Amino acid sequence: PPSSAKYDPIQDAPFHKGQLVPFGFIARGLSEIELCRGKNSKDAIKEIVANIFRSTILLNPRELPDLFYFFCVKLGPDYDSPETGIGIELLSNAVAKACGKSLKQIREQFKQEGDYGIVVEKSKGVQKSLGTFFKKSQETPKDLTFKRVFEAFNKIARQSGNNSQNEKESIILKLLQDATNEEAKYIVRWLQKNLKTGAAEKTYILALARAIAYTPPNHKGKILNSKLTLGDQLFAEKCEKIELAICEAICEFPNYGLIIETLLEHGDDLPKLKDRCHITVGIPVKPMLAKPTKGVREVLDRFEQVKFTCEYKYDGFRGQIHFNRNNPQQMVKIYSRNLEDMTGQYPDVVEFVEKSASQDVETYILDSELVAFDHVNNRILPFQTLTQRSRKNVTEEDLKTKICICAFDLLYLNGESLLKEPFIKRREILHKNLHEVQNSFVFAKYKDAEALEAIQEFLGDSIKDSCEGLMIKTLETNATYEPSKRSLNWLKLKKDYIDSGLGDSLDLVVVGADFGKGKRTGMYGSFLLACYDENLEVLQTVTKMATGLSDEMLAKIYSQLKDLEIDKPPSNLKFKEKNIDVWLVPKYVWEIKCADLSMSPIYCASIGSVEKNKGIALRFPRFIRERDDKSVEDATSSEQILEYYKSQPSLLKNDGEDDDFD
Ligand code: ATP
Repeated sequence: PPSSAKYDPIQDAPFHKGQLVPFGFIARGLSEIELCRGKNSKDAIKEIVANIFRSTILLNPRELPDLFYFFCVKLGPDYDSPETGIGIELLSNAVAKACGKSLKQIREQFKQEGDYGIVVEKSKGVQKSLGTFFKKSQETPKDLTFKRVFEAFNKIARQSGNNSQNEKESIILKLLQDATNEEAKYIVRWLQKNLKTGAAEKTYILALARAIAYTPPNHKGKILNSKLTLGDQLFAEKCEKIELAICEAICEFPNYGLIIETLLEHGDDLPKLKDRCHITVGIPVKPMLAKPTKGVREVLDRFEQVKFTCEYKYDGFRGQIHFNRNNPQQMVKIYSRNLEDMTGQYPDVVEFVEKSASQDVETYILDSELVAFDHVNNRILPFQTLTQRSRKNVTEEDLKTKICICAFDLLYLNGESLLKEPFIKRREILHKNLHEVQNSFVFAKYKDAEALEAIQEFLGDSIKDSCEGLMIKTLETNATYEPSKRSLNWLKLKKDYIDSGLGDSLDLVVVGADFGKGKRTGMYGSFLLACYDENLEVLQTVTKMATGLSDEMLAKIYSQLKDLEIDKPPSNLKFKEKNIDVWLVPKYVWEIKCADLSMSPIYCASIGSVEKNKGIALRFPRFIRERDDKSVEDATSSEQILEYYKSQPSLLKNDGEDDDFD
């Protein structure tokens, strides 16, 4: 197909149907993606990835699901994707050995390059030449196949026990020895959890839709190109329909493996996708999210004509609970906000969830908040108490912190989806079919209040009962459950943020730091933070922060971050910062409170959307806590920041002009 990039994986691929996809072919595609980065590069990247996917469909379609996960730097769906557990130390050791250099030399090089992938590419001794392999497909294929690489990653993730670090290192070393330098670069980048394509999941979905649209499923080995037969307009419409169907399916059924299998089987017969990939017990739904508000008055303005309810906003961890009486081995599953399987962390919760369902309930999916609970004084404990429970290998000591489930929504019952039911009905079904277990399983407290005073009073009650504030939800109109969506039909009213100008805290990525002075010498004293632009798939700087951290916390943060130091800014960061002591590989997300937002010539959040060459910046940022339940892509988006900015009283917009807050 016509490609905007000079690399065309379809033409350049060694084409033997049934052949395993050579890893060198993927690595070459990734290199080409890097070459076309820059202005308007998204289309070219999308086209290259689409063609890599398409070639895979033609060579060996069964490899496509794993290849899709490979691009997303995952081993499988979020709820069932083991971690490789590779820290900087292990990776740098393996790279040092593969390159025959000392650890010190390799670390120095990493600081300069900001990427172990480049280090290994430049330093790995023997450069096995692929020669003209890609041009002459009759040449012997390389033995390093994509399958072998992906299996090795899986094997790394399965290692456990005392010797696991050594085992992991030797698997990596073997791969690196058999790889060309170009291949080694992407193996190491994948292990570093960043392929540096300049694209993320959204682009890969578009590419997948194109690959499916290009090549109908019954092509019988011929290279079909439906774009040529359909023409540009119809082809674009077809891609869009497939893309939309994938996005819809993934919210209810976040398993790309099965979605891709279905697409390969049925192509653009999209009802088939809906039939197979919908809400299912045992597979977490992407949770619905809320919009912030700054006060009761705003709630009343927004919900002027609609019936709504106010619920306590509990301060704990979101827990999506799946109950399946027909699976006695694993009747209960608990998933986090990020769809991770947390069941092992809550053996005590599993016990009382089993008691919560009436006898005639076979299956359900419940949305809830898990909070720490003091059984002696009958009260909810602060969020910090909950975070003291270990995440893995839960001990007797951990179980002393008792958990209470605060159930607030029911998404599925006895094989039927409730997503399209209005909340008033879902709540009724929830209360009818599940029952409370004292201090362990309770329904979220609610009040269907409409008057300002009554809401304010209920807000006061929620704070007295150790909650964060209220969630206000539509009851009848526009009241379906919207998976994955930050919806205007759910409003959060957080006590601490009322009248703060913003209504909420922000979750930002740490991308750089300056060293401290005085007693903070030798550790970082302030941090450069960034938000995430979901459309451009880049990070954008938004503030520098130095407040809210004790010396003890700063020392801990320094030990966490020091191995992430790099001399160059992260490649996916939009910034204007000139004076920064160290750049950091983006990894940690922190919750930050601030006074308000203002235009800035220095920071880059949502740059250009309000004023030319200016971004939005935070004023008076303050650290609240680490958000280890959020990944870089889950950070506050630049779109949200723009919304917050625009919703501020207009006076503020002029007040802070050109302030850089350093
Ligand atoms: P967000 O989820 O909006 O990205 P966040 O994870 O920081 O941000 P908050 O902004 O505090 O969370 O607000 C939403 C969260 O509030 C939900 O994800 C859920 O965990 C929690 N929550 C507590 N009580 C309720 C309730 N009654 N209804 C819905 N969510 C609730």
